[in-house]
Amino acid sequence: MSKAPIPLEDARAQVLAAAGELARARLAEDGAIETAAIEQALGRTLAQELRAPHPLPPFDASAMDGYALRAADVAEAGPQSPVALSLCGEARAGHPFSGTLQSGQAVVISTGAMLPVGADAVARLEEARREGRHVLIDRPLRAGSDVRAAGEEVAPGEVVLAAGRRLSPVELALAAALGYARVPVARPPRVALLATGDELLTPAAEASGATLGAGQIFESNTYGLAALAQLAGASVVGRSHARDEREQLAEALERTLAADVAVICGGVSVGPHDHVSETLAALGVERRFHGVALQPGKPTWFGVQRSRRLVFGLPGNPVSALVGFVLFVGPALRSLLGADPVPERLQARLAEGYRKQPGRTLALRCTLRQEAERLVAAPTGAQGSHLLSSLRDAQGLAILPAERGELAAGELVAVEPLAPWLGWRW
Ligand code: AMP
Ligand code: MG
Repeated sequence: MSKAPIPLEDARAQVLAAAGELARARLAEDGAIETAAIEQALGRTLAQELRAPHPLPPFDASAMDGYALRAADVAEAGPQSPVALSLCGEARAGHPFSGTLQSGQAVVISTGAMLPVGADAVARLEEARREGRHVLIDRPLRAGSDVRAAGEEVAPGEVVLAAGRRLSPVELALAAALGYARVPVARPPRVALLATGDELLTPAAEASGATLGAGQIFESNTYGLAALAQLAGASVVGRSHARDEREQLAEALERTLAADVAVICGGVSVGPHDHVSETLAALGVERRFHGVALQPGKPTWFGVQRSRRLVFGLPGNPVSALVGFVLFVGPALRSLLGADPVPERLQARLAEGYRKQPGRTLALRCTLRQEAERLVAAPTGAQGSHLLSSLRDAQGLAILPAERGELAAGELVAVEPLAPWLGWRW
């Protein structure tokens, strides 16, 4: 960290600029866009807009079970003067009535059935009285009553889903309603993860017989980071662990750098055993920044390979690593997918006064609740970067400005919601 830490906004702008460049380079390659069967497309990101090949609904249809008729025939109908229409057939869902409805006639119709030619309204079954081959209507109906008009939802050619949209269950149902069996989706960026630290033992190693020695802890960061990367739409192609030892680290880094996005956690600070920064430089990764005026996440490192691929060095503290993903890596992945990189910030009132160190932006882990007309952000207790539980119940990161020292209860703050990163739709 040779220079002064840069502001969060600048760091993010640099990440997004580099991600934009890589996104353009990827688009120029073949295979940047794939097609996926809609059964397999949940969570994928649309690479091209989807237009409606036909209107929705595709034809005028009944919204109710009842009787299709001409509104003009029942204009004078009243409780004392019901109009009798003669039933001349039936229209069922999938089985249209083949004739043309004449004045004085009605057709028994089901929900979703095509409205017969000549009809312009539907009287509901429960509001009409059937008498043999006739139906009695005792009130006037507007033309269009209980009719779903062709194209009322979507006109032919209309853009129904924009490029960059994440395919959630609703998008998939909509694509199917338009007849799409396959959809164009962005090729997922390939992410490789590397945890560094002599003290780390993976839970899998313990499960297969290794034991946690004195001073050792379980490696947990790559599990959270891999899950976050997958939820952001990336594919995790590598996950490894290296000791704080130059040669082994260089080897592991080289493998990690083969991915579109390399995420290294731990060893990026200034301690005597933190070798990540110098090793990345030795491997030819161009440093864009090292050090962000941010809590947690001060030692965050970011650079770009000659191939434009992205390299992130996140601090090893579990909260710093996951928050670093949310603030930097995730937005880069979303940008590579052609999606909006960051969720819209919310405005909330601080539930309590908060004292922070001036000079660094604080990403305060908060719960969010609606109180009358306002959203209230309450810190999730102690905020140490090693306390994963501070993130467990958090729903947002309140971004407390660098220049501020003390914030009062009730102050309005910007909050980056966490839900989008944790799998909810945005
Ligand atoms: P470092 O960034 O390497 O200085 O690590 C900072 C703190 O995070 C230390 O307490 C490490 O033991 C811890 N740490 C580093 N990497 C991991 C990891 N992958 N999983 C859990 N804790 C970690
Ligand atoms: Mg370390």
